[in-house]
Parts: sequence; C-alpha cells; structure tokens
Amino acid sequence: AAAAALSLTACGGDDSGKDKGGSASGGAIKGKVGVILPDTKSSVRYESFDRPYLEQSFKAAGVQYDIQNAEGSTQRFQTIADQMITGGVTVLIVDGLDSNSAAAVQRKAQAQGVKTIDYDRLTLGGVSDYYVSFDNTKVGEELGKGLQKCLGDKAANIVYLNGAPTDNNATLFAQGAHSVLDKVSTYKKVAEQAVPDWDNQKAATIFEQMLTQQGGKIDGVLAANDGVGNSAVSILKKNSLAGKVPVTGQDASLQGLQNILDGTQCMTVYKPVKQEADAAAKLAVGLLKGEKGATNGTTKDATGNRDVPSVLLSPIPVFKDGVKQVVDDGFVKKDDLCKGA
Ligand code: BGC
Repeated sequence: AAAAALSLTACGGDDSGKDKGGSASGGAIKGKVGVILPDTKSSVRYESFDRPYLEQSFKAAGVQYDIQNAEGSTQRFQTIADQMITGGVTVLIVDGLDSNSAAAVQRKAQAQGVKTIDYDRLTLGGVSDYYVSFDNTKVGEELGKGLQKCLGDKAANIVYLNGAPTDNNATLFAQGAHSVLDKVSTYKKVAEQAVPDWDNQKAATIFEQMLTQQGGKIDGVLAANDGVGNSAVSILKKNSLAGKVPVTGQDASLQGLQNILDGTQCMTVYKPVKQEADAAAKLAVGLLKGEKGATNGTTKDATGNRDVPSVLLSPIPVFKDGVKQVVDDGFVKKDDLCKGA
C-alpha cells in the first residue's frame, strides 16, 4: 500500500528532474569570492545544494571562488575567513553560526577592504553590504499554517521544537509560526524549546522528554526543519505514534520528503536554494565589478540599528500532493526519493 501511494504521488510518471547546468563564461573579472557555510550536520542543504548551486553560479559568471564549510566551529569559521582574506578574496559571503562570531569576521573583512554578504542568516550587529535569504517570517507562517492544515481545528496540544537560539532565522521561524497558531483558540501550547545548534540528537532527547512530561498527550509538533522533525518522528515511532501526530519540517530534504510520502511528517517548506545561490552570486559579482546590485527590500537589524539591502525569496509549503513538484523542479531525484518504495 505504501508503494502504491508513493507511485501515485511522486514516484510515478516521467522523470523530468533533469540537471539544468549551464556554463557561459563572462570576461575576466578581477577579484575572488569566498563563501563560508556553517556546518554539515544541522541540514543536508549546505553540501548538497548551497555548495553545488553556488559553484554553478560562479562558474557561469566566470569568477574565481573558494567555498568552505566551518563544520559547526566558530573558531574554524574565523580561521577560514582569515585565510580567505589573506588569499585574496575581495567579497566574502557568510552564513554564520552565530551573530557575534560572524559580525567579528565581517568587521575584520571590512578593515581589509573586503565586502561582505549575509547568506541565508542575517548577522545581527554585522556590517554586511547585502542580505540574501528567503522571507523567514513567511517560512514560519507556512510552518504554522501547515500544522493547522494537518491538525484541523480540533482541540490539540502543540509543542514547538525551534531552531538554534543563535540563529536569527530560528527566531523568525518561531515568530511566524506563533503568529498563526496562537490565533487558533482550540490549540494549547504545552511545551516549547530551542534546539542548540539545530542538533538532531539533542532534538530527539528534548522531544522525548516533552512526550514523557505530557504523558504521551502531544497532538502536533511544530518542528523548525526536516532534521529536527525527523528526530521527533523517530521518537514517535518508538512510541507507536508516528503518523498519528503531525510533524512539520523545512528544507525539502530527501528524508523529509520520504517521511511525508510515508505519512509520518505532515509537510515541509521547500526553499529553491538555487534562486538563493544565484542571487548571492549575482550580488557578489556586482560588488567585484563595483556595480550596485538589485535588491527587493531591506531587512531591519535591530542590534546594529540598520536596514540591510536585501533579496528575499518566497518559500513554498509542500504537502504529500506537492512532493512531485519538488522532483519536477530538479531539487531531488525521483530515483533517490523512491529508493525502497
Ligand atoms: C536555514 C534552514 C536550515 C537551518 C539549519 C537555517 O538558518 O534557513 O534552511 O535548515 O538553518 O541549518
């Protein structure tokens, strides 16, 4: 039955998720772009999507680049930044682990005449020239609306598994979700906790404690991304509750999408990372050329008391019937998704 459901939704039909790589090369552009990604464990997105899409964009623009991953270490983050600046990077794109360490990197860069771009996460109190991300409050709203859609308006005990307290996005996700769910009078928030570093193991422990404290009476889980959501699903499985308690997620990861297809996760938020990578690369190339980049708004950094020129993209909520769209978009391959189906 599971296999039949799979083929009905995303695993049947044509494989149209073709690679759309292109490689037009521009004239010689002076300078070099550095990118520092945060980690490899909080989400599969960084190495599976951000890196290859950024590479693709830089290659297409014909610019030199260096992409590295801080592997969850702020110290490593600093070291990479220092090495990049010494190594001739003139534009630095940062996806910070926390605002303090990322702001320190940005100030150092600025002192060396290196421009910076905040990628995905805003560095509070930073000095970046631009911010490129999805509308993260909207992401949170989609999480809230998604959980509401899966729960209906019946009485429900809800728990929140938020992202890292050091990630400004996590704050916005939670705010967005609350703005929706707090208005539903039949819902009761019975627990809410931030998951340090978005650590999936910690998320499982936190959720297991919540479930015990509530005597098993949890009806819905607002999980901030697919990794954290999958941690909740694993604990629900242990308690024979998987599939009965809707769990949200984000990133349209393979695991998240598979959970949606087999009914243990209610939805995910798909963020076409290619658009984000393209936008960041475009602004970086503009900075190399000394051109003013195109933005579609500003983002308030209350800590730094400034408005950061921004490109903010639209997130897409995905339920079971929308999984095929993610495949068609080329974000995941049908064969990978349907392995074992
Ligand atoms: C990103 C999410 C990601 C999370 C954990 C957030 O800042 O926006 O896409 O799942 O960090 O890495």
